[in-house]
Amino acid sequence: MQRLKILNTHFITHNVKRFVLEKPKEFKYTPGQSAHISINLPGWEGQIRPFTFTSLQHWDHLEFIIKIYDDHKGVTSQLGKLNEGAELLLHDIFGTIQFKGPGVFIAGGTGITPFIAIFRALFHSGNLRDVALLYSNQTRDDIILLDELTKMLGPAYRNVFTEEGVIGFRERRIDRKFLIETIEDFNARFYVCGPKKFTEEICDALVSLGAKPEYLIV
Ligand SMILES: Cc1cc2nc3c(=O)[nH]c(=O)nc-3n(C[C@H](O)[C@H](O)[C@H](O)COP(=O)(O)OP(=O)(O)OC[C@H]3O[C@@H](n4cnc5c(N)ncnc54)[C@H](O)[C@@H]3O)c2cc1C
Repeated sequence: MQRLKILNTHFITHNVKRFVLEKPKEFKYTPGQSAHISINLPGWEGQIRPFTFTSLQHWDHLEFIIKIYDDHKGVTSQLGKLNEGAELLLHDIFGTIQFKGPGVFIAGGTGITPFIAIFRALFHSGNLRDVALLYSNQTRDDIILLDELTKMLGPAYRNVFTEEGVIGFRERRIDRKFLIETIEDFNARFYVCGPKKFTEEICDALVSLGAKPEYLIV
């Protein structure tokens, strides 16, 4: 277990907070990996939750981007109250989504976090090509890192909104009909990350439309 001091933290949307943390020496992780984290405060040390690194290995700090659920009265609600100087406990690192080659990335809400790390790594090495992103949120205000995603992906990035009508953006769900209209080739590789139901529904729809189960990365 490692203690990580918060160097900087601030809200980047109305309910999503960025945490910049001290990086221990010789600390190793890869884009798409997550960590089990708790808060180093009395009563909170044992409340362990998973979060995904959005920083890259060569950076001099660690970064997490975390949605704060005030109504849960759990760890993220407490994280929402933490400031610079507070400490988190990192229990272990585990693998989730890994980049396996070009494909279509489909994210819902904070499901974007492993993709942020993957896109940042590919962008940094000049290899971010043949990658498309469909990113679903309730409203425009919920988008995490809109400017950076737009800068990295350009026209390969499309927003989908389930609630709000915004001129110039699509307002709908990523469902079977949407996928038929949007995806040109179902032989592609698909990366899907979001709430459990979102991921299950999209994977089922993709497979029913001809996507190969072995080409689904979830
Ligand atoms: C592999 C992985 C990686 C992840 N990476 C990230 C990431 O990078 N960023 C990110 O933001 N999230 C990420 N998550 C999700 C994140 O782990 C959860 O949002 C977090 O665990 C929520 O913790 P919590 O203690 O605030 O709330 P919870 O543990 O969900 O809830 C605490 C308590 O609140 C109550 N509660 C639960 N649901 C509700 C509800 N709907 N309304 C009211 N009360 C409720 C229950 O009593 C519960 O015990 C990831 C999840 C996984 C599995």
